[in-house]
Amino acid sequence: MVILAPMPGHKVHIKCFGCQMNKLDTALVTTALMDAGFSLTAGVKDADVVLINTCSVREHAEARVLSHLGHLKHLKRQKPNLIVAVMGCMAQRLGDKLLAHEAVNVVCGPTEIPRLVDLIGEALERNAKQLAITPEIRRENESHSASLERFESAYGRDGVDDGSVPGQAFVRVMRGCNNFCTYCIVPHVRGPEVCRSPQAIVEQVRKLAEQRVKQVTFLGQTVNAYKYRAGEKTYCLADLLSLASQVEGIEWLRFVTSYPSAEYYDEILAVMASSEKVCPYLHIPAQSGSDRVLHAMNRHYTAAQYLELLNRARDAVPGIALAGDFIVGFPGETDEDFEATVKLVRQAQYRNCFIFKYSPRPGTAADRWHQDSVPAEVKQRRNVELLAVQEQISDVLSRQFQGQTVRVLVEGPSKKAHVNPTDGADNPQLVGRTSGDHIVVFNGPLSLAGRFADVHITRTSPLTLFGTLAPAPALR
Ligand code: SF4
Repeated sequence: MVILAPMPGHKVHIKCFGCQMNKLDTALVTTALMDAGFSLTAGVKDADVVLINTCSVREHAEARVLSHLGHLKHLKRQKPNLIVAVMGCMAQRLGDKLLAHEAVNVVCGPTEIPRLVDLIGEALERNAKQLAITPEIRRENESHSASLERFESAYGRDGVDDGSVPGQAFVRVMRGCNNFCTYCIVPHVRGPEVCRSPQAIVEQVRKLAEQRVKQVTFLGQTVNAYKYRAGEKTYCLADLLSLASQVEGIEWLRFVTSYPSAEYYDEILAVMASSEKVCPYLHIPAQSGSDRVLHAMNRHYTAAQYLELLNRARDAVPGIALAGDFIVGFPGETDEDFEATVKLVRQAQYRNCFIFKYSPRPGTAADRWHQDSVPAEVKQRRNVELLAVQEQISDVLSRQFQGQTVRVLVEGPSKKAHVNPTDGADNPQLVGRTSGDHIVVFNGPLSLAGRFADVHITRTSPLTLFGTLAPAPALR
């Protein structure tokens, strides 16, 4: 690896597509770029480097990146020294095909991000194309692991504006995935499951708490599968939550995304029930309510087993907020299969549900084995129908908050202009979230960003609660 001198004065514009894993990777790379002397710019036209973190989970996500690269191609004709770097899942999936794009100078897969700053430095100095993808993605060797761990643990340094929401941070507890759900590209681009040591994770949580972070979200593709053997003890996610909840300054702990599996499930629920710091929220994708489709997706549970897990969660943690994910239009999904999904959504009574139309991902088993047989208009109809079912459920659940006072962690100004964007004083419309992940919109001083506030709920919609700052907000 070439270690380049710091590169002060270069401005970098960063655009991030995709999930929380990508947001965390972007924050890690931002820290590394700042350390190397780069500064951030919000404008593409001011930038010396444009860095795009990409997502491959759906065709649509890749199409958005390609369209963005199309715009950058024109910009580069006016500004030939502009360096365009592409990182993330799409970089790993497409590799040199992406490097051949007229706009692109650097392509770097997710498991190669410790090298990214050097690659950008090389491209700036020599104007030569740079490629870093992991050829044997199904194995992670020790030096690779050590380099990723060093890179990861640098995150959380004071004074670095990495674009995170004030008072909140993600901490990765594991990389990759071993599950190979047939529709999913993740194991093909992020490699096998590798769990970080509990010591490294807790140390990072401590460092973040010192930077006034109040909420930490543990990230893993199957976060509840976290398992780390140290001497005689095997640590699971419940142990991590217990250890992190002892860190002074950390008030809320979350974790995403859970796979519907019974292993360690009761232990995790027990910590959630007993610790005020572990938020009563579980994001646990079902993907389908049809056993036939679940089998074809290589998901290792039936609809009945899944519902039994939800019942156990409600018994152990009364009032727990549940969220699910579904794919409609998986190859071969019949009307009967879809009806089974609708039935499951009604039974599950999720607080919120993320619904996606199946899109074939090259390289996955579903793409190799099955025709994308469900017509686009049928996928669209099923998507709309399932969203409507969920909206009714969310609406009823939201109404239960009417008249209540809820505690929220304030994120900052609301991005959507709802009614009453400002109340006339210096009180813009703010957005925060409850421990159950309910979005709450209210007016208040900007200084609340990153702090807790109590909000009296006066109005509800299916996905948002609206309210007023309680008279004596409890600030911590
Ligand atoms: S559990 Fe399945 S859907 Fe989730 S990342 Fe792994 S392969 Fe993809």
